[in-house]
Amino acid sequence: MTRLDDIRRRLDDRAPLGREDARFLLTEAPLIALGELAAAARDRARPPGVATYIVNTNVNLTNVCVTRCGFCSFYRPPWHPEGYVLTPDEVVGRVRAAQAQGATQVLLQGGHHPTLRLGHYEDLLRALRETGAWVHALSAPEVLHLARVEKRPLEEVLLALREAGLQTLPGAGAELLVERVRRAIAPLKARAGDWLRVHEAAHRLGIRSSATLMFGTAHDGPDDIADHLLALRALQARTGGFTALIAWTYQRGEAPVEAREVTAAEYLRVVAAARLVLDGVGTIQASPLTQGPEVAGLALAFGADDLGNVLLEEHVVASAGRERTLTEAGARAVIERMSLAPRRRDTLYRIVDDAPRGRALPVVAA
Ligand code: SF4
Repeated sequence: MTRLDDIRRRLDDRAPLGREDARFLLTEAPLIALGELAAAARDRARPPGVATYIVNTNVNLTNVCVTRCGFCSFYRPPWHPEGYVLTPDEVVGRVRAAQAQGATQVLLQGGHHPTLRLGHYEDLLRALRETGAWVHALSAPEVLHLARVEKRPLEEVLLALREAGLQTLPGAGAELLVERVRRAIAPLKARAGDWLRVHEAAHRLGIRSSATLMFGTAHDGPDDIADHLLALRALQARTGGFTALIAWTYQRGEAPVEAREVTAAEYLRVVAAARLVLDGVGTIQASPLTQGPEVAGLALAFGADDLGNVLLEEHVVASAGRERTLTEAGARAVIERMSLAPRRRDTLYRIVDDAPRGRALPVVAA
């Protein structure tokens, strides 16, 4: 019996994979057989023959940030002349414009502003209720920062945000949930345990969330990716609150943290390993924004089932100099090239309907 056969047998028995299994999948497993195993697991977790996407708008509320992550080209320090804070009216205006073009979800995030208070976010969330867009808002490090600014317990801040209109929490800010890596790339950002603590608290308040995995800096490797996946799986076993994992690679742009080369094969391995290790997380999302449509399409044969956000606005990755564009029609074409049926979905990954075919939106790619 090969090692992959042994892993297949344990997956069939619904036995969780361990760190050495994850490492084997990420480094040595035969690539095509790995893809087949992950694709079979995907078909058990999600409707077979289908891949999904959502028309979304990203609104970056402020680029002012005191956290100074070494991988970020987006932020400006306080008092920088290019710093901005959008007003609730400006955000609502952008969301309504995006809705007019088909967006159903707004992804709200921004820098760690030193003085913006909880009331500002509550006003904004209440104003957004009027639009009817699904509000997928604030990364775990932003929520933690807000709790520190307010000097209030995390749970209270989460509850206030939920009451004001926050519906789900995006998985941003996870990067890699490994302290050594975080100290190297973002020493002032929330610790791995903090990120997990925020998501656990959110799940216990009924706020579901996604998770992300960013790899490809000069400071990470397969062991770190394996540990990240196992940390997410442990939390999912406790709460069941994660809807999805989104895997993407570091885009350096003008940021000081160095990148390492990530081949298409490595990206596909990470997607497949995520599918197999993260039993219980329904969706594994590929990232056309960072990988391009060809590799993201291939990921759909390696365990991914979703192409993520077809974006109308996006600045954090675009500011790293790797802007890519993809219309909704383009996203559907990528899915169809993989002999899958494209379907729109909602933020909870429920298939909602067929998008109008052939409709080309002027979007920045998911
Ligand atoms: S990634 Fe977020 S927290 Fe880090 S510097 Fe950029 S805006 Fe600030």
